[in-house]
Amino acid sequence: MHRLPIVAIVGRPNVGKSTLFNRLVGKRLALVDDRPGVTRDRREGDAELLGLDFRIVDTAGFEDEDPDTLPGRMRQQTQAAVSGADVALFMIDSRAGILPLDEEIARWLRSGDTPVIVLANKAEGKAGEAGVNEAFALGFAEPVPFSAEHGEGIVDLFEALRPHIEHEDFEAAEEEPEEGGPLKLAIVGRPNAGKSTLVNRILGEERMITGPEAGITRDSIAIDWEWTAPDGEVKPVRLIDTAGLRKKAKVQDKLEKLSVADALHAVDFAEVVVLLLDATLGLEAQDLRIADKVLQEGRALIIALNKWDVAEHPPSLFQGVRTALDEGLAQVKGVPLLTVSAATGRGIDQLLAAAFETRDAWSKRVSTGQLNRWFEKALTANPPPAPGGKRIKLRYLTQAKTRPPGFILFGTRVDQLPESYRRYLVNGIRKELGFGAVPVRLTVRAPK
Ligand code: GDP
Ligand code: GDP
Repeated sequence: MHRLPIVAIVGRPNVGKSTLFNRLVGKRLALVDDRPGVTRDRREGDAELLGLDFRIVDTAGFEDEDPDTLPGRMRQQTQAAVSGADVALFMIDSRAGILPLDEEIARWLRSGDTPVIVLANKAEGKAGEAGVNEAFALGFAEPVPFSAEHGEGIVDLFEALRPHIEHEDFEAAEEEPEEGGPLKLAIVGRPNAGKSTLVNRILGEERMITGPEAGITRDSIAIDWEWTAPDGEVKPVRLIDTAGLRKKAKVQDKLEKLSVADALHAVDFAEVVVLLLDATLGLEAQDLRIADKVLQEGRALIIALNKWDVAEHPPSLFQGVRTALDEGLAQVKGVPLLTVSAATGRGIDQLLAAAFETRDAWSKRVSTGQLNRWFEKALTANPPPAPGGKRIKLRYLTQAKTRPPGFILFGTRVDQLPESYRRYLVNGIRKELGFGAVPVRLTVRAPK
């Protein structure tokens, strides 16, 4: 078990700490006891902000004390809270501007090692602008304009907090591959589509084979090799689960059948999956089933029409497969479709280039800022429906993970969001934010 990250709220009296605390904890457990003498130095609660979970510690409760000095007890308590925290939210009142007490708090926050985010509260409307600008002078990173009372700036606060907070939703982001990590590629398809020929062609042309290398699992084998792109760049590729292919190529065991299950075994370990089709046969139901599975598994998919050297009526064949794919794979439109010839080597560089490109999209992360600018436009262009006369309110969208990209949508009455609207958003994310045809997941959640 690991503990929840701890966020401390610090600031002089009346800047809005309790208001923020209540907003983040979501219940009124923050209510303080009004009787004098009752200890109310610290309040703690479990908080959630757009899917980030953390423990929040509020150091409010010093209203009785002289606001112009930093009294010993306040300092002590606040310091204890801050030094035990992963990050401190230093709240100021944008309307009141920076007071001497703010400067004093800033001084000792600067002398500690807890990271500090300056939260310029009460920044709704114009009255807070000057205060937000003054807050730069406190000597921390850019202040986050915020309104605890109106809930404005939540996304910016989320962005500022996220680097300091670990959460399982975000672990995937940390696993993102080092630039240039080998592209994990699987080639699947029905028997006789030309998989062995393709693999042999690729490997035969490259002299850089560093495998075969047993690894991944007992019955799965990876071959590492390096692809030299047409521009001369050398890029590592790991071909997944080629054991069956090589064996077959050797003994010409034409009885071996590639089932959907076999294909999926390779898919598990791949980032990008190439589904190879025989152009002389076209697209069949089993191909669509494999393609669908690959997408359901969240892998990036590319379709390659092999044996293009002997294809008849190429333009109409290509168009027919394109249409059948777009109709058959309802969840993703525009899956890359390429033509290759494993026998002649035609189109193989383009196929590998497309695989790298698709992996980039699959691994891509957009900033919450960019995402929400797009989101606002998408909502304006096509507002969510109002089932039973009650409008569904969609508030924020965040990208919770990559590989494949996953998004969380927050709002009220989201359980009534129709599938068509969801698809509208997912398609928009894909097309307008550069995710191409990779599978994009969207989870909806009502904020706590
Ligand atoms: P604390 O002493 O720092 O805990 O501050 P409180 O949360 O008790 O807030 C002090 C006062 O500021 C209260 O009257 C709040 O209603 C008000 N307040 C809190 N947040 C905002 C805000 O974002 N905008 C405005 N205009 N007032 C706020
Ligand atoms: P696998 O079962 O998917 O591994 O398919 P194979 O690689 O064994 O190929 C099946 C047959 O198709 C073999 O006779 C290959 O020579 C032939 N073949 C594979 N690729 C091509 C191609 O690009 N063009 C042509 N004309 N024949 C091909």
